[in-house]
Amino acid sequence: MAIERTFSIIKPDATRRNLTGRINAIFEENGLRIVAQKRIWMSRAQAKEFYKVHKDRPFYNDLVDFMVSGPVVVQVLEGENAVAKNRELMGATNPANAAPGTIRKLFAESIEANSVHGSDSPENAAIEIAYFFAGCEIVG
Ligand code: ADP
Ligand code: MG
Repeated sequence: MAIERTFSIIKPDATRRNLTGRINAIFEENGLRIVAQKRIWMSRAQAKEFYKVHKDRPFYNDLVDFMVSGPVVVQVLEGENAVAKNRELMGATNPANAAPGTIRKLFAESIEANSVHGSDSPENAAIEIAYFFAGCEIVG
């Protein structure tokens, strides 16, 4: 397995409850290194662009409202098979379906306020990382 990078967001429901450190500990205890990280308050335009793949879904407007409702922590995680590993650590989108011990089972409030985002493919990871980070901000 190759060393890979993925993009992660700790969402507003989790920053509001001061869960950044507990979520980061799960990444680090499971072999993912945080090689870039910053706390930002996304603009509506940024959130709409980031989630544009979902623009025709009924939950899109609410999702954008949620993502701009408070600060988020955007991150680049690095490790073996990082994209799939992070998806495994996150758990299913709906916390009701998430496996025990996953971030969403432990912390998510709802299918929308589900604490974390993680890229779903290496191709999307590269696009999402480039959207939020300059190359010189990522230090492995
Ligand atoms: P994931 O984040 O697991 O990759 P999706 O890409 O399908 O899930 O959806 C993006 C985000 O949109 C989810 O993380 C969640 O915040 C929100 N979302 C997805 N499905 C729903 C839904 N049915 N109702 C409300 N919000 C949803
Ligand atoms: Mg997704």
